[in-house]
Amino acid sequence: MTSLSVIVPLFNEQESLPELCNRLLGALADPGLHRCFPNGFSFEIIMVDDGSTDGSVRLIRQMIAERPEIRLISFRRNYGKTAALSAGFRAASGEVVITIDADLQDDPEEFRPLVMKIQEGFDMVSGWKQQRNDPISKTLPSKIFNLTTRMFSGIPLHDFNCGLKAYRCELAASLDLHGEMHRYIPVLAKWKGFRVTEIPVKHHPRKYGKSKFGSARFFAGLFDFLSVMFITRYLKRPMHFFGMMGLCSFMTGLIISLYVTADKLMNHKPVSNRPILFLGILLIILGVQLFSTGLLGEMLSTRPTHEAGWAVRETGNIPEESLEKLKE
Ligand code: UDP
Ligand code: MG
Repeated sequence: MTSLSVIVPLFNEQESLPELCNRLLGALADPGLHRCFPNGFSFEIIMVDDGSTDGSVRLIRQMIAERPEIRLISFRRNYGKTAALSAGFRAASGEVVITIDADLQDDPEEFRPLVMKIQEGFDMVSGWKQQRNDPISKTLPSKIFNLTTRMFSGIPLHDFNCGLKAYRCELAASLDLHGEMHRYIPVLAKWKGFRVTEIPVKHHPRKYGKSKFGSARFFAGLFDFLSVMFITRYLKRPMHFFGMMGLCSFMTGLIISLYVTADKLMNHKPVSNRPILFLGILLIILGVQLFSTGLLGEMLSTRPTHEAGWAVRETGNIPEESLEKLKE
């Protein structure tokens, strides 16, 4: 078994790649890191090209020719960082899996402390960019994001969205990521019952190119937050969520209608010109609809899906067993 899989999601990072490759190989040659794996050390670097349109893929093909430990998964188009990470997780065969950004902002020197934390017994170690080298337009929204996520999830991490993270292989294999959910991986992991912690890591300013995330990410992030909250709380019991609301609505509507009917029968008040009648009817219909939504949710949630949602154009050096998983 491979000891360490390094997953690098990348989108148009050709300027950074040569330096990144050297620094990764340098960090992976560190005897201190090797000592963390008493049964011998081996590694793989999985470069996941997220539909780059520059020369990134060509560069990686050249690297593969020189180093057999480097692997390539190349997407047909740009699907986003979440998709890139999830393809990497599927292809990874390491005992420990580390993800790192391709833009040289994260430091490969942190591999050893990350792995040591995993060997201590944690299933996931997230980096914490204590001193962040980014413009305020990034750090401020990020502060708000971290604060709300910390409050709602109850997980005491400072930095949920750090590109540098380490995972025990069982966790990496069990993550089912959609949308832009890479920001919430610690929440999903914790909810599944894995042990999550963090360590401070070094962070550098972006040297080449520019950030690949625009302002659209605020809304994407908000919706993903709602779906993560829903997934972690109600995924296995949609009926509890929709059923309860449906029941309340239906019962209120029923009481209103019964009252209107009784008023007609006993006090001979006309039914037709009473606004409250419409509220009663509305609530009954709404109740039935919510109830059936819950029922549908219940039926869907008992059927696991493993559809990937992305398509691979090209691979390089990926072992046979992992190729199967990428096709699923
Ligand atoms: N990235 C990706 N697909 C995308 C956007 C980004 O694979 O659609 C990669 C990008 O190449 C980089 C990492 O994700 O390696 C982090 O992106 P970036 O540095 O732009 O994010 P920031 O550091 O600004 O949050
Ligand atoms: Mg970056």
